[in-house]
Amino acid sequence: MSLHLYNSLTKKEEEFVPLTGRSVTVYTCGPTVYGRPHIGNYSAFLMADLLVRWLEVNGYTVTHAKNITDVGHLVADQDQGEDKIQKQAAEEKLDPLSIAKKYTDQYLADEQLLQFREPEFRPRATEYIKQMLEITKQLLANHHAYETDDGVYFSVTSFPAYGKLSGNTLDALDAGKRIEVNEEKKHPADFALWKKTVAENSHHVLRWSFETGERTSTEGDDAASGFPGWHIECSAMARTCLGEQIDIHTGGEDNIFPHHECEIAQSECSMSPLTGGLNPRLTNRQFARYWLHKRRIEIALDGQGSLKMSKSLGNVLTVSDLIERGYDPQDIRYYLLSVHYRTNLKFSWKGLDDAKKARKKITDWISDVENFSSAVSEKNSAHKTDVEKFSEEFMQAMNDDLNTSKALAVIFNLMNWYHRSHALTDDAVKDLQDFIEQIESTFGCFEISSDDAQISPDVQALIHGRAEARIQKNFAESDRLRVELERAGYTVKDTPEGQKVQKM
Ligand SMILES: [Zn+2]
Repeated sequence: MSLHLYNSLTKKEEEFVPLTGRSVTVYTCGPTVYGRPHIGNYSAFLMADLLVRWLEVNGYTVTHAKNITDVGHLVADQDQGEDKIQKQAAEEKLDPLSIAKKYTDQYLADEQLLQFREPEFRPRATEYIKQMLEITKQLLANHHAYETDDGVYFSVTSFPAYGKLSGNTLDALDAGKRIEVNEEKKHPADFALWKKTVAENSHHVLRWSFETGERTSTEGDDAASGFPGWHIECSAMARTCLGEQIDIHTGGEDNIFPHHECEIAQSECSMSPLTGGLNPRLTNRQFARYWLHKRRIEIALDGQGSLKMSKSLGNVLTVSDLIERGYDPQDIRYYLLSVHYRTNLKFSWKGLDDAKKARKKITDWISDVENFSSAVSEKNSAHKTDVEKFSEEFMQAMNDDLNTSKALAVIFNLMNWYHRSHALTDDAVKDLQDFIEQIESTFGCFEISSDDAQISPDVQALIHGRAEARIQKNFAESDRLRVELERAGYTVKDTPEGQKVQKM
């Protein structure tokens, strides 16, 4: 089965076909850097990381852009109210750029700990103001936007497809009319492309000239300066880094509305008319063809019910909270990836402990395979096809909308098979090692830490000799080899899946 992805836009699983050949463009909505992202945020970024890794395992060349929002994201994701970063700056008595830098650095350090693949582009919103203004001016020119006293707004009624991603069509929005605070807006759902530094925004520190896109230093009321709306940032960064049309756009499910709905509106209403020339797949003026959204994490700690993990509820856990409790960042990565991305993960300590144990089982097994001694009898040998069967099942699970829980089940079946097989042909070992490489590239959390000391070939020979003895029911020999292994510093436990050998 070729790669199929659940497309939030069409609400069905579709075969993935890139716009051009084997090249894929992926845009991911990154963090707003006003605080340390929590593991719920990282779980959304991890889905994108997994997607990119899996595309690469499939032989695609991926160009991935993942932005950093360092201005213009207002509290409650609305058009009114304070800029999240500016608000944090006031609380910490720092300027907004220092706040953005501080939390960007923390975020990048966390990503490194969690072994994220480095994207090709990490655009920062403050570096793309000119491109944002370009789109804004284009939308003004083609009547998809209008100016008010406090900014420039996108006119949702000018885009009949508004609502196609979230289902929040204009009819649906009209029916549930909200109280409108900005009387100058033509429709309550119209959203800001640009906010002027006037009235409640007159104290906004980060501001640029609407005319030139250059930073302005004036403080106080200045209608000629302003800052971008949050949504336009992603439209501009995606276009600049990846082009007008991209293959896949990812984010957390909370981004669907209004953020992604608005991105679609801006991007599709400002495309150059000649996009794609005569290629019909490129001329339908679609901004992103596949939209992938990560379900949110809920947190279920001691005695509480499940709650959404969010900064405003004060129940967030960060990567460093978990490291302090003794978890390896790879355990966190494994836990967050072990549940299919369209299933709500209910975070619990037990869940994380189980993930830690499961990951250890896999890394122990990997180190066993990596040190597999080829000096093993080939009778009762497993054949190459056995490994291929597991490898195909793994491929199928991942191609089925990145079904990680199914893919991990295949790995555990493979491990059981391996422990039962006792002897493998050289070919099978080679296949197995190749397959393990694929598993590692896909999940990125099975690095063997240095304290899982490599098992020497001598010890390997004892382990496999004992396995042979057990097959032949030669218990005297099996006991003798157990003693030898213990002398070499290993404990041996016989389990239904075969013997388990561990360093004492
Ligand atoms: Zn975004």
